[in-house]
Amino acid sequence: MWSAESVVVCALTLLGRSQAQFPPVQFVERPPAYVSRQAQAYIEEASDHIVLVTSTWAFTNARRSNFPCSDAEAIREIAGILAHEEWHMHHGADEEGAYEAQLTALAFVGADPDGPLYHKVKKAKLAVEQASKRTSRTGVVASTSGTRAHPP
Ligand SMILES: [Zn+2]
Repeated sequence: MWSAESVVVCALTLLGRSQAQFPPVQFVERPPAYVSRQAQAYIEEASDHIVLVTSTWAFTNARRSNFPCSDAEAIREIAGILAHEEWHMHHGADEEGAYEAQLTALAFVGADPDGPLYHKVKKAKLAVEQASKRTSRTGVVASTSGTRAHPP
């Protein structure tokens, strides 16, 4: 088993980034009760670090691979999640912008634009776009819990 830290280093290397240039990353086995059970990552309100959930498909596979960084699809997925959370860290709560950054990162790290990973993120982006359109049409302001989970 590779450590969670070494998996993050794989993902950052793929993104052409170093840990020193990136917000601090913490790990949690499962998302806490106030975060969505499907969450792969989240940011606590007013904190300066990203929390990654390590019981996800991508993390489990990346840690079990024979050689470090060798499960390319899992590492790409984690790279995309990190890019998504980093975007929030710098630009705030807007999900469309964060998913856009995630898709850009996936393309950058070589994810197949017709593949399941890219498709999954595109679908999530579309869902938040449609939700925000519905919200602006009805004038309902979405409640914010202070903690952003992905997917919500
Ligand atoms: Zn987000």
